[in-house]
Amino acid sequence: MPRSATYQQPEVVHKLCEPCTKRRLERYCKFPNQVPPPYLIPMIDEFCGNCGGTDSISTADLVWVNVHGCGSTGLPVGFAIRFQLRESDREAYLKHWGTPYLRMQACPSCGLPAWVIQFNEDLYLRCAHCRCYRPQLLDEDYFARDRARRARRLLRE
Ligand SMILES: [Zn+2]
Ligand SMILES: [Zn+2]
Repeated sequence: MPRSATYQQPEVVHKLCEPCTKRRLERYCKFPNQVPPPYLIPMIDEFCGNCGGTDSISTADLVWVNVHGCGSTGLPVGFAIRFQLRESDREAYLKHWGTPYLRMQACPSCGLPAWVIQFNEDLYLRCAHCRCYRPQLLDEDYFARDRARRARRLLRE
């Protein structure tokens, strides 16, 4: 079966603290184009900066899983991010929805690390600091325009 265009391994794999990641992802079950998934703190030198723990998972383990409501309609109620799936299941989910935490880059707005979130064909930027979460805004130009717009708005107030 041909791979769909959305299937992509994380470009750079980051280690994440397993218990902290689990806790942060626990309550997330949303439509990712509307509600950003949580910012995950990558481990540094094998240690979690949050709890000091060393149990890790990799960004390559994380997948979007569509969650259906109970009852007969079976309509999707959102997407959760899961790990610890069987290899074959993990690949299937990746092919369907892409890689939740694709890579990190400096946020063009504040310069701090931000996640590039992939969902379907779209990329979003999830920065811990300025909470920007917008599709396809990964180019400098956009942020320059955005800063100019914000500045103009401030001048008008
Ligand atoms: Zn931790
Ligand atoms: Zn930022």
